Amino acid sequence: MVMDEVKNQTSIEQLKEWDRNHFMHPTSSVRDHQENGAAYTFTKGEGIYLTDIDGREYVDGLSSLWNVNLGHGRSELAEAAKEQMETLPFSSSFNNYSNEPAIKLSRKIAELTPGNLNVTFFTSGGSESNESTFKIIREYWKLKGQPQRTKIVSLQKGYHGVTLAATRATGMDNFNSFGTSYAPGFLNAEPYLTGCEQGDKTHPNYENSIRGVIEREGADTIAAVIMEPIQGAGGLNVPPEGYLQSVRDLCDEFGIFMIADEIVCGFGRTGKMFGVENDGIIPDFMTVAKGITSGYIPLGAVIMKDSFRDELAELTGGVLFHGFTYSGHPTSCAVGLKTLEIIEKENIVPHVKKMETVVENEFSKLKEKHPHVTNERCAGLLGAFDVFKDPEENIPFKPEEAAAPTLSKLCGDLGLIVRPIMYKGANTIAFAPPLISSKSDIEEIFNIFSQALTRFERQVN
Ligand code: PLP
Repeated sequence: MVMDEVKNQTSIEQLKEWDRNHFMHPTSSVRDHQENGAAYTFTKGEGIYLTDIDGREYVDGLSSLWNVNLGHGRSELAEAAKEQMETLPFSSSFNNYSNEPAIKLSRKIAELTPGNLNVTFFTSGGSESNESTFKIIREYWKLKGQPQRTKIVSLQKGYHGVTLAATRATGMDNFNSFGTSYAPGFLNAEPYLTGCEQGDKTHPNYENSIRGVIEREGADTIAAVIMEPIQGAGGLNVPPEGYLQSVRDLCDEFGIFMIADEIVCGFGRTGKMFGVENDGIIPDFMTVAKGITSGYIPLGAVIMKDSFRDELAELTGGVLFHGFTYSGHPTSCAVGLKTLEIIEKENIVPHVKKMETVVENEFSKLKEKHPHVTNERCAGLLGAFDVFKDPEENIPFKPEEAAAPTLSKLCGDLGLIVRPIMYKGANTIAFAPPLISSKSDIEEIFNIFSQALTRFERQVN
């Protein structure tokens, strides 16, 4: 080994040790990390590919964290950040100070959103966006003379982030019990009971439906209902046709706000600009983050109807006592603006819709070859499948068999990063490759799925 290689080798080992000693990772096993170190340490990204510290290449099958939608290494996004940093890196939006990128981005968002969702409040990410929406809505009801109207209804298996209120809205007990997260006024309903939401009280689970919860608590105590158009982290759950419309109608019936958490679905992921457009509904609020900058820089936003903003202006008169230092960060907004320009210029959204067909075709081939694969689902380039011990007999793998993590690790060994989800006994493999993925990229992903499943079958059969 030449001297340079030895030096390089040492520094890699050093980095791995520093990681173990000093870097606490989010949503990771503290013990596993301390014992085994990081699972992957990436050093480079180019298009849909990532390279790790040991020089191995992987397909970024989850767009990193459902966010690097335009792929890695886009110089236009780096240039937008550089240019803005050299001109005006930061400027506050408090006290009605403003800056050009934030103005232009809010205008662009208004152009892209359906209906009159024309006003944007910027945050630094998804949790802050949901947290802000809850507070703004509760403030509205208070000013409207209905201060008891504070409760937020969300769905089981929904994911809305980890700040105190957002984690309570999150319908996954592993997240919402963490740190004894106490924030009153959050209620979880069972998802996808379309008939109940339309008023059918005969269903055995009616009481757990959103309508059932509203009825039990009293509609005049409910501030808003929040849901993802398609649930991501909770298992990639796609609502049945007509469900979102039934919730929209229910909210209208009781004068309750509907919040669509578009943090994963927004900006093209599902083959429409926003996930709600698959169902043709317009929520009262949308929360966005992730894809708004393709993950290149933190940014989130609450998007509301201008009629709501007008009413709030009339009601408050005074200061909106809510905001983050980085609300409307000029550099983040410049990158956001460039991201949305690229999405339009490169016709990303219709491309994603086309790729949905490729995914569907690949799914049917995968199922033919691999008997454990079932429940395949996708919308645009957001997809998942489950593995069952025996899909026909509906026999799942036992939790101790850790089927999804095993399969995900096999995919990793073969050069594909995906997300295993094991919530409530499921064994789901979720994927969300960059929206620029071509037909052959998707075929490559499914080819790796197939190879990984062959290895998996040898292990479990
Ligand atoms: N909402 C959804 C649907 C998400 O998937 C996420 C993050 O994965 C969040 C909210 C929270 O966003 P953040 O992690 O940026 O706070």
